Amino acid sequence: MDTKSRRQTRQRQAILEELRARRCHPTASELFQAVRGRLPSISLGTVYRNLEVLAETGQVVRMRDGGAETRFDGNPLPHAHIYCTSCEQLVDLDVVVPELAQLTGAEVVGFLITSHHVTLHGICDTCRNLLRNQES
Ligand SMILES: [Zn+2]
Ligand SMILES: [Zn+2]
Repeated sequence: MDTKSRRQTRQRQAILEELRARRCHPTASELFQAVRGRLPSISLGTVYRNLEVLAETGQVVRMRDGGAETRFDGNPLPHAHIYCTSCEQLVDLDVVVPELAQLTGAEVVGFLITSHHVTLHGICDTCRNLLRNQES
């Protein structure tokens, strides 16, 4: 491997490790801040490009839900999420919905189901406490 591709591999590995170390599903810019601590010369563009490659190869998942900016998930296995509509944090929900999981590969109202993404919406503990304090 030449120096350039070795550097690219190291960058991609660092991005993947930082993403997998988090359960908060960061945006590309949040991840850039984290990776910069390890690789100070990395650019936001490089982080974006690597996330695209990692998403295309199925190692990370581009999230369809959770605020205006695209968030990334380091866990490619199917799992549910819960989203706070107030502070926009998106966390893993360790609840299995077996009926939904069984639908993959089945036909529903004429659609062949290829995958499913469950995201519950709500208001987190911290936000609810803040709201309560504002009211009193
Ligand atoms: Zn919240
Ligand atoms: Zn997740």
